[in-house]
Amino acid sequence: MHSSLIGKIEKAKRYAEEPERIRFSRFEATFHGEHDEYVVSFADNHWHCTCAFFAGWNVCSHTLAMHRLLTPMMAKDATPSGAWTAVTSV
Ligand SMILES: [Zn+2]
Repeated sequence: MHSSLIGKIEKAKRYAEEPERIRFSRFEATFHGEHDEYVVSFADNHWHCTCAFFAGWNVCSHTLAMHRLLTPMMAKDATPSGAWTAVTSV
């Protein structure tokens, strides 16, 4: 294998150990919930989910789970909108 390609692969392995190097700006994913599949998306620092709970609360278990998983790769102010005040005030 070409030596420069080997160097890139080694670097990729190091980068993969440092998720904080990556910051998501937008994405869309299919979330397999307990009852159905939902589309969870993130753009402009805001989360969105197609589930009914999100429509009423602006937060849901799917967006919270995704945020929890991806925290090292999310901007510090990318907290699910209204999530913490809504959840902690209940
Ligand atoms: Zn949801």
